[in-house]
Amino acid sequence: MKVFQGQFTQQEPISDAAIDAAVAVLKSGRIHRYNTLDGELGEVAQLEAEYAAWQGTQFCLAVTSGGQAMQIAMRALGVQYGDVVLTNAFTLAPVPGAIEAVGGVARYVEIDENLRLDLGDLANKAKTSGAKFLLLSHMRGHLCDMDALMQICDQHGIAVIEDCAHTMGAKWNATRSGSFGRVGCFSTQTYKHLNSGEGGFLCTDDPEIIAKATILSGSYMLYGRHGAGPDASAYDELKYLTPNCSARMDALRAAILRPQLANIEDSIQRWNERYDTLAQVLSTHSAVALPVRPQQESMVGSSLQFRVPAFSASQCEALLTQAAKQGVEIKWFGRAEPVGFTSNHTSWRYMPAQTLPTTDRLLSTLFDLRLPLTFSLDDCQLIGEVILEALHTVDAAQFGSISL
Ligand SMILES: *Cc1c(COP(=O)(O)O)cnc(C)c1O
Repeated sequence: MKVFQGQFTQQEPISDAAIDAAVAVLKSGRIHRYNTLDGELGEVAQLEAEYAAWQGTQFCLAVTSGGQAMQIAMRALGVQYGDVVLTNAFTLAPVPGAIEAVGGVARYVEIDENLRLDLGDLANKAKTSGAKFLLLSHMRGHLCDMDALMQICDQHGIAVIEDCAHTMGAKWNATRSGSFGRVGCFSTQTYKHLNSGEGGFLCTDDPEIIAKATILSGSYMLYGRHGAGPDASAYDELKYLTPNCSARMDALRAAILRPQLANIEDSIQRWNERYDTLAQVLSTHSAVALPVRPQQESMVGSSLQFRVPAFSASQCEALLTQAAKQGVEIKWFGRAEPVGFTSNHTSWRYMPAQTLPTTDRLLSTLFDLRLPLTFSLDDCQLIGEVILEALHTVDAAQFGSISL
């Protein structure tokens, strides 16, 4: 029996360059983003300029979390109490949580076999719901046909906010996710593609949205200190009309993010090598369904999903148990009860209950693995072999029920 020894939640250490930058901030005592010397561009403003340049958007605002970025984006776009916000039925709790926080009502859209938003269901619900907003979650890094999606939303006057917590760096054709809709939201929480513990970005090309978002994030009247912000005139009226919701990023986090951002292309390549190695092993098993990655998509393979469509719920449980015995921590989206970071729409009971037969069927046999960069390619090979063994063990134990 093969056993894997690594830790699925172990990220890489913060580099010496990032630690040095953080120590310099600590020694300065100026940790608040607006606590800058005359003419000094603080770490946060520099990070915002660098991120906007890399992302390819006009503006970037750094905030305390991805969840806050989504809330601020929805407020800046004018989501009001009771407004319907379309969103993926398959996502994670911060997404419906952000909609609830701004008083919106989530209307879930089905996903397809490849875990992307189902554009047929989107077109249908765009029509029947009258919604003016879509919070599109690129859940687990799967991008839908963004040209077709934008066409549907433009046709119905729907403003798109992209939740890019899992797609920082991913592209559809040559455009980075987060640059299609009105606003792109990103997370720098430990398990995402940059790690500052907690943190997030909001990106847009729209000067009015970035001005509103800046005041919403808690700039007081110090918005002039955003090196990467719009002209001062953008704030003339807004400063009287926009509440301060205190969600600023601090200089310490920005200091450790800037060296990571400088290295992100290398990280993306390493994630994809890990993904490809594991996917290659799993693809040899005929009962395993891996998402098809369209040619237009440039992914960031920081996690891997697979389905075993023939499995019952008890076989899914047995697979988790057997893989865990062999050191491989798999998550399962089909569990009735929320566990750890994993929950599904039936657990978000502050929102109206909804019927989503396709999503439920797909989630019932959907498994998920993190691929931290601390794993070597050999580790990924071994993880794949462990999963194959575990599949055979489960199949053998259920002799006669199905044949994998
Ligand atoms: C992590 C995550 C977010 C944002 O997370 P924060 O912890 O608030 O930074 C948003 N959407 C999805 C799908 C996520 O996994």
